[in-house]
Amino acid sequence: MNKANPPESLIEIAQAPLLTWVELAQADAQNGKLPSYVPQLATVDGDRWAVQIQAVNGATWGAGATDDIFPLMSVIKPLLLLFLLETLGAEQVWQRVGQLPSDLPYNSLTQLEADQGWPRNPMLNSGAIALAELIPGSTAMERCDQLQAWLNQRSRANLQLDLGMLASVESVENPINQAIAQRLAMAGYLQSPQLATYNAICCLAGTVKDLARIGCLLAANSASIQQTVNQIMLTCGLYEQSAAFAQTVGWPTKSGVSGGVLAIVPGEAAIGLYSPKLDATGNSIVSLFLLEQLAKFHRSLDSKDYK
Ligand code: GLU
Repeated sequence: MNKANPPESLIEIAQAPLLTWVELAQADAQNGKLPSYVPQLATVDGDRWAVQIQAVNGATWGAGATDDIFPLMSVIKPLLLLFLLETLGAEQVWQRVGQLPSDLPYNSLTQLEADQGWPRNPMLNSGAIALAELIPGSTAMERCDQLQAWLNQRSRANLQLDLGMLASVESVENPINQAIAQRLAMAGYLQSPQLATYNAICCLAGTVKDLARIGCLLAANSASIQQTVNQIMLTCGLYEQSAAFAQTVGWPTKSGVSGGVLAIVPGEAAIGLYSPKLDATGNSIVSLFLLEQLAKFHRSLDSKDYK
C-alpha cells in the first residue's frame, strides 16, 4: 500500500466516526461539571463541543462549534513557555522554573511548600505565575499584548483579550493563587507578588481554529525549543492525569479550566478542542475522549499502512 500523507490521514480518520465518538463522550460528560470559581465560566452551555485539526502541511479540518470563542486559561501556559524560550532564551527561563512533573493539583501549595517555593514546572500555576513576570512590558496589559501579538503574528491566529472574562476572574478572590504568588516572591522566584499579568494571559480567548493554528508553532517539532515544550506538555499538561494520558495517548497535550485543550501530534498536526464540562481532575471530558479515539486510530494506521 502506498504511504499516504500522515496529516491528511489524521484528518481522514476523524471524519467518519466523529459524531459517534461525540455521542459517547457526551453521555460520559453528563456527570461532568462546569468550574464554579470563575463566575462567567459557570454560565456557558456545557454541551458545546468543537474540534479542529491543522496539519503542518496546511490541511485543516474542523467539526462542531468551531466558531465558539473561549478563554485559553491554562492552555496558554505552553505558549507562554515557547514565547519566553524563543525571545529571552533558556537561561532566564530555567532560572525561574523547573521541568519536573508533579502528582499534585495544578495549584497545589503543598507541592510549592515541599519544593521550598521553587515552581517545579511551567504548566503549574506556580510556574506560569513566575514566568508571566518575565514577559517584556511595564504593565500587565502591555505584557499580555506582547504575548498576544507574538502568537497572532507567528501563527495567523486571532487571539483577543476577553475583558469580560478578566473582570469575572478578578471579581472573586483567588486566595490560593495569591498565596502561590506570595510564596514565590518569598523564595525569590517572583519580584512582585502580583497576579495581574497571569490573569490577563489566561483570558486570551479564541476558537479551536485559533488554538490549532497556534499549536502548529509546536507541531513542526524540529527545533529543540519545541521539543522541550512538547516534552513538558507530555509529562505535565493534564494535571494529575498527565502520566496516564502520556501512556495511552502519547501526544503532548495541555488543558485549561474553560474546557479548551491543545494536543500536538509531533511532526504532523495540532489539534484544538473545546468542550466545557470537566472531570474530577479538571480536564474536558469530551475533548480527552476524542483525543483518545483519534490516537487509537492514528496508532493503528501507523502500524499497518505507514510501515
Ligand atoms: N486562571 C486559572 C487559574 O489559575 C487557570 C487554571 C486552569 O485553566 O487550569 O485558576
